[in-house]
Amino acid sequence: MTRRKIIPATTPSTSSVDTDATLERTQANLARQQEGSYQDATSRPPSLGQPLASSPQVNQTTQLINTELLIPGRGEPQNRMTVILQDGKITSVLPTSSVPPPFKKLPTTNVPVLLPGLWDCHTHLLGATSFNFSELLTTSPPALAGARISRNVHDILMSGFTSIRDLGGYAIEVSQAIEEGSLVGPNIYSAGAAISQTSGHGDIYDLPSGFVTSCLGVRDTQANAFAPATGPLLLADGVDECRRAVRLLTRRGAKCIKVFASGGVLSIADDPQRQQFSLDELRVVVEEAARAGRVVAAHCHGKAGIMAALHAGCHTIEHGTYMDAECAELIKEKGAIYVATRTIVKVGIDHPELMSPESYRKMVETAKYHRAAYRLAVKAGVKIALGTDLGISTPTTHPLALGNSGGELAYAVTDGGMDPLAAIEAATARGPEVLGHLGMAPKSGQIVVGYDADLIALAANPLADMDLFKNPKNITHVWKAGRLFKSPTQAA
Ligand SMILES: [Zn+2]
Repeated sequence: MTRRKIIPATTPSTSSVDTDATLERTQANLARQQEGSYQDATSRPPSLGQPLASSPQVNQTTQLINTELLIPGRGEPQNRMTVILQDGKITSVLPTSSVPPPFKKLPTTNVPVLLPGLWDCHTHLLGATSFNFSELLTTSPPALAGARISRNVHDILMSGFTSIRDLGGYAIEVSQAIEEGSLVGPNIYSAGAAISQTSGHGDIYDLPSGFVTSCLGVRDTQANAFAPATGPLLLADGVDECRRAVRLLTRRGAKCIKVFASGGVLSIADDPQRQQFSLDELRVVVEEAARAGRVVAAHCHGKAGIMAALHAGCHTIEHGTYMDAECAELIKEKGAIYVATRTIVKVGIDHPELMSPESYRKMVETAKYHRAAYRLAVKAGVKIALGTDLGISTPTTHPLALGNSGGELAYAVTDGGMDPLAAIEAATARGPEVLGHLGMAPKSGQIVVGYDADLIALAANPLADMDLFKNPKNITHVWKAGRLFKSPTQAA
């Protein structure tokens, strides 16, 4: 995605503003919306004209947000600005002093600080209550998982995250329920299942191999609820199965592809330092994904996996625990993006009860290297997007539960060494970029004319205190596609 100049600030003229009757209808509509109805999105009237930036017409969705401090996602903050929303998009960004008088009659929200909605670029909507992967095939059947996730997606949106990229879980199906209006939640861009080799990070070592393959393999050899490619993990071996895995996932509705290019921590028996999948297998995943307009996210800890994933053309490197200067240079050369997932490392180490002893030992070991890798990448100028790797579906009182993504912004500063504005850019403008340039990335993550009206407000300036993001209570307002989902007078 190319860098855009922020704040075009096209000042609307007053010459053809619609009638007072239209303004009254608009006010009445917004008043209804702010009473808390989530169900009126489909009953919006047709647009009355061009976006406000090019033509100053309004309709019943037009609304203003005045803010003391606008943090645009990319570029410098600005004081005393007004953002105008219409039909789910940002249609104007201008100094509050330049708002023409007729627009001052429109529904207006005043907030101290306004930002683009946040992106968590690495989640797992699994509906599980532990990190033991065997739970996915034994005690958390899909319906139970879905019921738990329905709370998680609500909590994610209320914490200010208007978009997530999910890298293995049931997010494709859940996003359908959100889009239908059955659930309140963020925009979801999901990989569906994460692709693993047999004896890889996505294999489940405490269950018999035949059972795991029958549930999670790419061949529909046995009738069961998971096969093929409908669960959170997908086993594939050899280039033909890897190609089929990608095709099954695009068929399911994946917006990106996730592959395990090294061993992992939460799997029981593999080594995070070892590469997984051959270069040929990784290449066919990238090629097949690209043919379908998708880019590939690569889970990798060890250097061999990082280098192989980059040489194969993977677009994002997840975790990157053993990254060195050579890896960082190759990430830059390839135009790839690093997602450090600091939250799982920093918070996970306090919760051995959620994982097997083998996994906990690996977590302690990898945690020794992760912070240095993150700092190295930031210092080297690698493009960074923020992701947490959260995937526990217990209520948000648990620090590892979905809905606690805000800490990642604070850790980007304290642990990654980013400055606060760069950390906010990594959690906003950089978010859509993880979906690549092949057609899956939305126009969002920045307060710019023509972008999705996904916005959040805070009562205080996060540039002075990044810990504000840790507590969802500090997120006073959440708009998704121009609809107000959270405000101080609206139940969360
Ligand atoms: Zn993950």
